[in-house]
Amino acid sequence: MFRQLRILILLGVLLVVSLNAMFSKIRTTDWDAPLWVIVYPVNADGRADTQRYVEMLKESDFDDIENFFSKESKRYQVALNNPVQVMLAPQLESQPPEPPKNSSILDSVLWSLHMRYWSWQQDSWDGPDPDIKIYMSLYSPDNQQSLRHSLGLQKGLIGLVNGYAEKEYQGQNNLIAAHELLHTLGASDKYDPATSWPIWPNGYAEPTKEPLLPQTYAEIMGGRVQVSPSTALVPPSLDHVVVGPATAIEVNWLSGE
Ligand SMILES: [Zn+2]
Repeated sequence: MFRQLRILILLGVLLVVSLNAMFSKIRTTDWDAPLWVIVYPVNADGRADTQRYVEMLKESDFDDIENFFSKESKRYQVALNNPVQVMLAPQLESQPPEPPKNSSILDSVLWSLHMRYWSWQQDSWDGPDPDIKIYMSLYSPDNQQSLRHSLGLQKGLIGLVNGYAEKEYQGQNNLIAAHELLHTLGASDKYDPATSWPIWPNGYAEPTKEPLLPQTYAEIMGGRVQVSPSTALVPPSLDHVVVGPATAIEVNWLSGE
């Protein structure tokens, strides 16, 4: 009797969690109202030069994310003019929990729950409720440690972006933010994790171009521009990036049929 009750409660919790995930997937990809995206800057290395950059950030430094979503969604006949509205929150003092290295499934699940709890607890934003939160952890470009991987959680609608605290890198920071934002909406990676090269055809901006190489644009989830059989470059900004049809289907800009 007690055992049956326990199973019933567990099934109930699972049902609520999956219904919640389903509704948030529908809500974020129905494209009938702009998605509110809040960027939270974090001084990730505690340095003074990083701090100066964080304090200089303005909302307009993120305009190319909005413009990218407007331009690309229009190519897929999305009726909404500005599908994404980016707002800048005040600097966050605490650091997002570090994702586990070489994690097991259990570690990842626990970290994802921890991340969502942290995100709910830490909020420097007091405007309208965001649809998606992007934590932008910034490091001084003089700080020679390699950046941690950025990532996007579809369940939880959270993106973690690691970038450099300098004007000339902001284009790339925004590119990573757009990539992680698309992950939160259900888009998948289209590059080979072993080489970081885009995977043909879906990871290429122009998969039917002849000759195929050099490509001139990157597909946002492919990440890089393959310019020769042995070289793929990270584009400097979203000006050199498109949303390909496979990604458009995943985020509901294009019917899969
Ligand atoms: Zn990715």
